[in-house]
Amino acid sequence: MFVDKAGVVVKAGKGGNGAVSFHREKYVSAGGPDGGDGGRGGSVIIEVDKNMSTLMDFRYKRKYSAGNGADGQGKNKTGKDGNDLVIRVPNGTVVRDKESGAIIVDMSEIDKFRLVRGGSGGWGNRHFATPTRQAPRFAKAGLPGDELDIILELKLLADVGLVGFPNVGKSTFLSVVSKAHPKIADYHFTTLFPNLGVVYVGEGTSFVLADIPGIIEGASEGAGLGHAFLRHVDRCRLLIHIVDVSGSEGRDPIEDFEAINEELRRYNPELAERPQLVAANKCDIAHDDEAIERFKQYVEERGYRFFLISAAATTGVKELVNAAAAELSKLPPLTIYESEYVPKPRMQGSPEELVIEVFDDVWTIEGKWIEWLMKNVNFDDHESMMYFERVLRNAGVYERLERMGISDGDTVSIYNLEFEYVK
Ligand code: GDP
Ligand code: MG
Repeated sequence: MFVDKAGVVVKAGKGGNGAVSFHREKYVSAGGPDGGDGGRGGSVIIEVDKNMSTLMDFRYKRKYSAGNGADGQGKNKTGKDGNDLVIRVPNGTVVRDKESGAIIVDMSEIDKFRLVRGGSGGWGNRHFATPTRQAPRFAKAGLPGDELDIILELKLLADVGLVGFPNVGKSTFLSVVSKAHPKIADYHFTTLFPNLGVVYVGEGTSFVLADIPGIIEGASEGAGLGHAFLRHVDRCRLLIHIVDVSGSEGRDPIEDFEAINEELRRYNPELAERPQLVAANKCDIAHDDEAIERFKQYVEERGYRFFLISAAATTGVKELVNAAAAELSKLPPLTIYESEYVPKPRMQGSPEELVIEVFDDVWTIEGKWIEWLMKNVNFDDHESMMYFERVLRNAGVYERLERMGISDGDTVSIYNLEFEYVK
């Protein structure tokens, strides 16, 4: 089974917690704090695997989590970082954010990309020792890793796409112009997944040709096989539209030609405008020359180039291939999709759920809401810091600290951020 679209959830690891520990040695009464930091959570990385050709693996496994960072330990031992998780996908996989549909990354020119980053580890108590606070009995919790719902979509990297009704000879054409060995048979829908072949034109010129499973009427609305496959022609720079002109199946070439174009248009109007070469196939068994002539005229009046071929007998095939190569040399390169994704983590938790604790005039604030807020503030930027202040104030956090008895000069400690409280 060919799978070219899949939804998965990726989750980065949580950072390990910082440790509370004190140095102990025989005959040394009160050692200093030596609690190590938590390790960083692992990230989820997506990587191209040139040997893969479908997204099959993602049908059965939907959740991908990287390792958590280990907690820090005494003797200043930092916890181990969580292991990264690498997801392998075929070349040409486009990753989208499920919620917004925005493209996160196109795995075509990029081999490796970090989808979600692990949370940082919490600091151990050794960081919190000051001349007046020699035995800090607190450490910080690690931050959670990011989580993202994504859609993987395979969009083949082919210069030329073959389109046409089932059984018109697309696979046969691919097999005679390249080394690909697609299934060829005398019944419809023999092609259940796209086949790619490299066509050598000579003198170092070549292009990639994709045999797309037959498009049938209504395919763009999901009526049958073919709909899912239309996305594989999205990137193609040129289409070769194969039409059976033999009359052997009682089909009318003009009707077929229009039906396929209508499908392309419905799927994506821009696709119907893609340059097209028209190949009238099976001329070896065609008998109605007038019908072919009518079709030729029809097509040429609409500005397409017309080629009479027999894929099976390889008649006219060379001319068509040369014309395709010449056409490609004038066309822009393959489409690579730009990222359009702006991370917008949903608000998590609420300010009311924050846990505020005080040890040695250090006020620690923890909870989902503040984690979410911190992830969205750039602490190197003054403006953002002001924003952070404002949000805390508006959420009533300062009011709560006041009620709990905070005084000027106390320390406020929020994960890896620490500042002096000033009224
Ligand atoms: P697809 O469904 O478009 O990929 O069509 P296939 O390539 O599988 O071909 C369908 C049938 O048409 C097969 O039996 C082929 O042998 C036959 N066929 C393909 N091209 C030609 C041709 O040029 N002449 C003749 N006589 N038969 C052909
Ligand atoms: Mg086929």
